[in-house]
Amino acid sequence: MSQASWKDQIKKKWGPHSHCPVCGKAMATDKKICSQSCKDNLAEGERKQKKKGRFQCIFLIVMMVGMILLLFLPGLF
Ligand SMILES: [Zn+2]
Repeated sequence: MSQASWKDQIKKKWGPHSHCPVCGKAMATDKKICSQSCKDNLAEGERKQKKKGRFQCIFLIVMMVGMILLLFLPGLF
């Protein structure tokens, strides 16, 4: 067994596993999140991300309206 590489040893020790996307801890492959607190963290992050996305969307629309006004206003006068 001394011939086994360290990778094989780790595989044997931990078995098939995946990592929590929130904290990066090893966990069972059938789980998506390792714990309830990480689940809460993820939900909080997603909510913030959505808020940010909406703000960016509004910003983009304002920019576009501004550009259109800049393009068309000189022609109106
Ligand atoms: Zn976690």
